Amino acid sequence: MARRPVSLSVVETAYIGLGANLGDRAATLREAVRRLGEHGRVAAVSSLYETEPVGFREQPPFLNAALALETALAPTELLDALIAIERAMGRVRTFRNAPRTLDLDILLLGGVAHTPGLTLPHPRLHERAFVLAPLAEIAPDVVHPVLGSSMAELLASLPDRSGIEVWAAPGWERSIRERVSC
Ligand code: ADP
Ligand code: MG
Repeated sequence: MARRPVSLSVVETAYIGLGANLGDRAATLREAVRRLGEHGRVAAVSSLYETEPVGFREQPPFLNAALALETALAPTELLDALIAIERAMGRVRTFRNAPRTLDLDILLLGGVAHTPGLTLPHPRLHERAFVLAPLAEIAPDVVHPVLGSSMAELLASLPDRSGIEVWAAPGWERSIRERVSC
């Protein structure tokens, strides 16, 4: 009987943050979830949240979500894949905190990493309610490897959790279309 090839790749769970505030935001995020699924197994997707912009405030509200991706990609390979998806979906990089058709960040993957293009955990994860609200929904007990607190604890300890509303329930990535404003 033929032996099955031995795979040396280790599958790990990456937690990815998604955001969009230009164009058909929900359709963009839905397509991003589909494309991320080409790089592993999408194990969980949070609700979709509408959030007020942080930093540069004179821009439209964001839709944000988080997902868990079981992937054999190394962290830098996954970041390259995220950047390729952002580009394919029309993102043009201008300035930090600028409006964007799509932002994909690796929030957590394995332990700690510091390379020129990639820092893990994401350096601003613990201070952003728009990241922690969706992340704590799908990974409440996952512990931040540097701070030693769980995602639920980090969310609860934020001084300001305002400006964040659930916009669509779990399952949005299979069904939703951007609401038409009238
Ligand atoms: P932000 O997501 O903070 O608004 P950008 O999306 O413009 O900022 O990302 C700027 C750069 O941050 C990316 O080109 C990437 O190289 C770097 N970066 C460092 N760590 C991470 C991470 N964990 N996830 C995503 N990008 C990261
Ligand atoms: Mg980013």
